Amino acid sequence: MKKKVYIISHSHWDREWYIPFERHHMLLVELIDDLLEIFASDPDFNSFHLDGQTILLDDYLQVRPEKKEALQQAITDGKLHIGPFYILQDDFLISSESNVRNMLIGMEESKKWGSPVKLGYFPDTFGNMGQAPQMMQKAGLEAAAFGRGVKPIGFDNQVLEAETYSSPYSEMKWKGPDQSEIFGLLFANWYSNGNEIPAEKEAAIKFWDQKLADVEQFASTDHLLFMNGCDHQPVQKDVTKAIALANELYPDYEFIHSNFTDYLAAVQNDLPEDIGTVEGELTSQETDGWYTLANTSSARVYLKQWNTRVQRQLENIAEPLASMAYDITGKYPHDTLDYAWKTLMQNHPHDSICGCSIDDVHRGMISRFERANEVGRYVAEESVNALKTEMNTKIFPEDSFPFVVFNTNGLAKSGEAVIDVELERKTFAEGSPASLYRDLAAKEAGSYHVVDENGRVIPAQISAEAVHYDYDLPKDGFRVPHMKRYVTIRLTLRDLAAFSWQSFALVPGTAPIEQDGLANADGTVLENDLVKVEIAENGTLAITDKENQTTVDGLLNFEDTGDIANEYIYKQPEGDQAILSSDTKATVELLENHAEKAVVKLTHSIDIPVSADDLLDEEQQMVIEFRARKAGRSQETAPLTIETTVALAKNSKKVDLETTLDNQMKDHRLRVLFPTGLKVEAHEADSIYEVVKRPNTVSASWKNPTNPQHQHAFANLHDDIRGVTVGNYGLNEYEIVDSETIAVTLLRCVREMGDWGYFPTPEAQCLGEHTFNYSVEVHGAPETRYETYKHAYTAQVPFTVAQVPVQEGKLPVTKQFVEVTGNTFVPTALKRRKHDKALVLRGYNMDENEQELVLEKAEETPVLLNLLEEPMDETYTTKLAGYEIRTVGFVND
Ligand SMILES: [Zn+2]
Repeated sequence: MKKKVYIISHSHWDREWYIPFERHHMLLVELIDDLLEIFASDPDFNSFHLDGQTILLDDYLQVRPEKKEALQQAITDGKLHIGPFYILQDDFLISSESNVRNMLIGMEESKKWGSPVKLGYFPDTFGNMGQAPQMMQKAGLEAAAFGRGVKPIGFDNQVLEAETYSSPYSEMKWKGPDQSEIFGLLFANWYSNGNEIPAEKEAAIKFWDQKLADVEQFASTDHLLFMNGCDHQPVQKDVTKAIALANELYPDYEFIHSNFTDYLAAVQNDLPEDIGTVEGELTSQETDGWYTLANTSSARVYLKQWNTRVQRQLENIAEPLASMAYDITGKYPHDTLDYAWKTLMQNHPHDSICGCSIDDVHRGMISRFERANEVGRYVAEESVNALKTEMNTKIFPEDSFPFVVFNTNGLAKSGEAVIDVELERKTFAEGSPASLYRDLAAKEAGSYHVVDENGRVIPAQISAEAVHYDYDLPKDGFRVPHMKRYVTIRLTLRDLAAFSWQSFALVPGTAPIEQDGLANADGTVLENDLVKVEIAENGTLAITDKENQTTVDGLLNFEDTGDIANEYIYKQPEGDQAILSSDTKATVELLENHAEKAVVKLTHSIDIPVSADDLLDEEQQMVIEFRARKAGRSQETAPLTIETTVALAKNSKKVDLETTLDNQMKDHRLRVLFPTGLKVEAHEADSIYEVVKRPNTVSASWKNPTNPQHQHAFANLHDDIRGVTVGNYGLNEYEIVDSETIAVTLLRCVREMGDWGYFPTPEAQCLGEHTFNYSVEVHGAPETRYETYKHAYTAQVPFTVAQVPVQEGKLPVTKQFVEVTGNTFVPTALKRRKHDKALVLRGYNMDENEQELVLEKAEETPVLLNLLEEPMDETYTTKLAGYEIRTVGFVND
């Protein structure tokens, strides 16, 4: 039997990276023009793989709309292979839902043209998420291809027995935490191992002798894969000639121009018995640790914060509200939401969200975030307006000002709701703006309190009355500018049910309020029934958990070090000593203190070097790899002022932290440290549909002195008695230092892109003002950590509020839209299915154990769906498996 050589032509298309989007865009137009020509002129040219992402079709048609038919013909004829994804994402830096929408929208787009290639495609992704096997299967994909995460070692190597993330073969099985298993294909010699195949005899022999040996070192079967292309590679126009020549030169091999569909069928049919299995996330655990590229999670942190904001707006605010409003309007804005999602996902490719491109690219991303966010806000507002018109508030007194608070989270939420309640308005038709303003401002101030629907007084902070300008945009008329007199209400709510709303009203008259505050007079102690927070002179926090009588101290310590590498990788200069805020004194100021909440402000001023020394510039110009650099930090220092508010609410163990600073220093990394005093072997972090367990120590081959990791909402260390959870908002990088400290990166400031040349990126220094939100919460026995995880999740999604007149309506003032009962189930989506508007609820099990999960919506029946929202073969059950990702559709009985 001859060995069979499959040559797949492709081009890995980073839409933006070391050159701006539009330059790459124009090159893409050239590429597809060339392809359409070659499809017509070379009958031996089998096909071209369009990099697994459908957005390239839209990009091309934007410039060449007249080529739509030719493109359709090429796809129909099987010449151009498309899909299954919309873009090639970074798995870890986008949300769980974003990973799903990339498949959902990618498949929908593919089906408009034909059928997608059934291969999860992650050629360049910087590591692979552990739940990918389950996610691929639930999107109808039984195989995934990837270029990183697993170290290929060749089957003549004897040491691999002990290693879990190495593979003798380029082919393997990949198993997720829930035991789902798919076929994994590693580009062991990269996705360019068949690039630029010579069509001239002498060069061809040199090429193939080497390349065949390289492939055979890892291939488990006689089906050998060659990827004919590379990053932005133009199509090789004489590839079929080069293949004909190879067939002449190597009679023991059969060389064919092929495609993934044919290759996958052949290779999977012939896999040997001893094919290996890799499990869970693949993050290059068994390499030297330098090129995991995990530090992209701290490059340009402002992008990650923006991404979190827009994801929460679409997933957790706009879609749940629109789903609720559907019951009133019978309409769901699918087109609008698709537009918002596509705009957001244009920021999700690995070179984009990772922050590892040139400045121009990342400036463009801000505009996309803003646009997607505005669309999300519009959908949310329209939905609230629809719900509001039907809210029956007759239960409140005629002279009251009712308002409704929505918890759009899939988990019960505690926290503060903030709303401006309008007391009176005067439109510009009634007088000059200035006179209206003066009239309203001159009114005698009233006194108010807040009640719930049963007339019970609810503790609230109510501001003094104020006047400001506003306007209405009626649906059936011209804009209405006006002045309004209003108060701002801050309401501390406890355990507002998942996917629910509750109404309150501002009513005239004073009500007795509890006098005692949670803080002491100078603000150095904050205390409630559950915890006591003591602030040391150096600004670190000691938190005592009253329930189990344990204290953790030294929390909230800022650490600054130099960074002489690039957007991809952090490298501390040799001999650089970390500068710690705990070596200085902090000032404490009491900002707010009442029975519901206390807030203090800590101010640190630490002297840090203003930049790296002059050698760094020279070393970068010379393209010296970061490990060989001798640059240090400059001798000149300047003070960095760090202001942090520390907030504790009644009945909460969570301490909320908000840090603001104006960064004027370059070439450094700023982290906040939470030493836990625990010495444990592993920790947990929020990943993609997974609370992932990661070891606190590195593999034997690891050389990098640091071990940066990705997170979404939290990281946790715990033992059998107690634990600490550090929550965050858009701070995706953390590290477990010395097995006991959770270090969260706030800023990483570098001056070059890195990778294959010299690309200066002054804006990656992140100069200017920044605000960081995070939290720390202590807990007791291990099972109680899940409560802290839920707190970290719900902290990311604010309550939505709206004022409602006293009126009749068909909606009750308080309602839970869907009931969710399950201890460790975390909903990630509440939306409507496209074709029939059925309600879709998706979430995952944080725990490894099976549990009971009850999801109920009145008069509707739950059915199990896959990630593409199609019915699954399995019948509905309330048993949720360990680590299961579950999508449920509600259909009318
Ligand atoms: Zn790439």
